[in-house]
Amino acid sequence: MEQTKSKNECPSCKGQLDYDGCYRRRYDGFRFDQYRCVECGKTVEIRIDEPIEKTFPMIREISIEVLEDRARNPKRYNKSSNSGLLFCCSNPKCTNPGIFIEPILQEMVDKRQLYKETWQVCNGFEPSPKWRKKTPCNRSFRITINLILENNGAHGG
Ligand SMILES: [Zn+2]
Ligand SMILES: [Zn+2]
Repeated sequence: MEQTKSKNECPSCKGQLDYDGCYRRRYDGFRFDQYRCVECGKTVEIRIDEPIEKTFPMIREISIEVLEDRARNPKRYNKSSNSGLLFCCSNPKCTNPGIFIEPILQEMVDKRQLYKETWQVCNGFEPSPKWRKKTPCNRSFRITINLILENNGAHGG
């Protein structure tokens, strides 16, 4: 499967592309639209990164803090942050591209839960070619999420 930038033109034969659905890639959380060329039948994909406010339009305000176990200051995110992978492990050798925030937000929205504190352990590995085996990264993150939902019966403005 090939990646392309234009949703109008096949990268191989310049033929017209038909929309063929979208999916989320498991290992990095990025979303893709798939298109099929009407001329040569080739399937191409276009990456679409959506901010939290687009994926979760019912969230009016959100503040997310991620504190890594060895870090002093949390990283902060808001509703214009990417809704797929929110942050990356700071271990430079770690293979984990980040941790999925979207399932956590989806659960909060479903339960109309406005506050959540959760621990996530990095699922990445440090490749060690010398020993031919992978070392788990094992860094952990404290994730604190505060949100305000639309139509939440807000009082006083
Ligand atoms: Zn084509
Ligand atoms: Zn890691």
